[in-house]
Amino acid sequence: MKICVIGLGFVGLSLASVLGSKGYKIIGIDIDDKKCKKISSGHSPFFEPKLEETLKKGLKKDLGITNNLSLIKDCDYIFVTVGTPQRENGAIDLSMIKNAVTSIGEILKQTKKNPIVLIKSTVIPGTMKDVVLPILEKKSGKKAGKDFGLISNPEFLQESSAIKDTIYPHAVVLGGYQTKFMKNAKKFFSKLHPNTPIIITNHQTAEMIKYANNSFLATKISFINQLSTICQNIPGANIDDIATTIGLDPRIGKQFLNAGPGYGGSCLPKDIKALINFSDNVGINPTLLHAVEKTNENQLEQIIKLIKKTIGKNLGTQISVLGTAFKPDTDDIRDSISVELIKKLLNLKQKSKIIVYDPKAMINTKKIFGNKIKYAKSISDSLNDSKIIILMVDWKEFHKLNNSSFKKSSKVTIIDCRRILANKKLDANYYAIGIGHK
Ligand code: NAD
Repeated sequence: MKICVIGLGFVGLSLASVLGSKGYKIIGIDIDDKKCKKISSGHSPFFEPKLEETLKKGLKKDLGITNNLSLIKDCDYIFVTVGTPQRENGAIDLSMIKNAVTSIGEILKQTKKNPIVLIKSTVIPGTMKDVVLPILEKKSGKKAGKDFGLISNPEFLQESSAIKDTIYPHAVVLGGYQTKFMKNAKKFFSKLHPNTPIIITNHQTAEMIKYANNSFLATKISFINQLSTICQNIPGANIDDIATTIGLDPRIGKQFLNAGPGYGGSCLPKDIKALINFSDNVGINPTLLHAVEKTNENQLEQIIKLIKKTIGKNLGTQISVLGTAFKPDTDDIRDSISVELIKKLLNLKQKSKIIVYDPKAMINTKKIFGNKIKYAKSISDSLNDSKIIILMVDWKEFHKLNNSSFKKSSKVTIIDCRRILANKKLDANYYAIGIGHK
């Protein structure tokens, strides 16, 4: 059996590496030749724990990396994991999916194989039936369900635990028609993930499951963030004790209840926007989803408000932003709240100096801001002359901060969006999201 994975980003490279490390015959394909070369040499183009060691294991076995799409002609399983970003108006941009399936269709025309095409990319309901299937059939001159299989197979991995999530997914969703291809795909996944529930459904339900999943997670985050803002007005209240306790209720569950500066990242913001846009198109006003987004925006607004108040009329105040990745253990800054924060700070009337530090995401941050901000070599370098310190991301190394870390500055203001320093007696003006000010 030969498998190919088209699109070697967080999802595709994790999948290709895991399958490769398990000894499957795999071809990982990306249009980006530079990326392919880097991956072929055993290096990941982005930081993801355990990815490089898994990739190297795969490369030693039967994992090959190429930008030559024609090699899919011998494959039995073709996974599509290209990006589906958002357009300006929030709608999903399907251009990469369309390009990828157009190429697949053209190659299917020339092959005697009857492969199964599995779309892992997140796509809005109706995409498989109205976009992917017609392109594949037209370009190949063949029939889905008879000559090739077409299955929606949404991905649920989280960056920072992508390898673990790829090996042990909480569910496998297979959407499509009940054909021999579906039976074979079920067998394939049962062998790969013997203890994971497999949900077999139609295309549009599978597509919607992914949006249901992500919009529920975003709702949980906005819920706890809204409560955290209420707590800030109850002297002594602490959102973490509340989150821990309600999280023990099995009907609620403990994950995604970490109050903070709002959700960001490459998935939640774009998927909520795409679902809102889709709902509008089918004549539904998604009131709850709008509230989830609005609550998310408010989190950043309250941080900005506090910074403006602290700066007052001073010009040139140095502000240190600790953490620019959208979460710890990744260098991904796509739709990161920190990046939004920095953009807003740069636009403030009270011009300030911004210095940033992130253990992994400095290179990506530089690509966005260039010389508009300063880049610290270490946490202490970022703190030296800063009057305002904003802890945005819960990186482990930020937990080491204490009074001596700030000693070179006069009394500083710390805005701790993750309550990392909440239990330390700091000689500073300390504000934490979710803790009632006395
Ligand atoms: P990504 O942007 O990191 O990677 C996509 C890759 O596809 C890029 O390397 C790009 O060069 C390549 N590509 C684009 N067009 C191509 C083509 N025609 N042929 C070959 N390669 C092509 O994307 P990602 O974060 O891995 O996400 C992929 C999909 O999975 C998206 O739909 C996303 O919403 C979904 N998803 C992402 C995550 C996540 O945490 N990143 C989790 C679950 C689902």
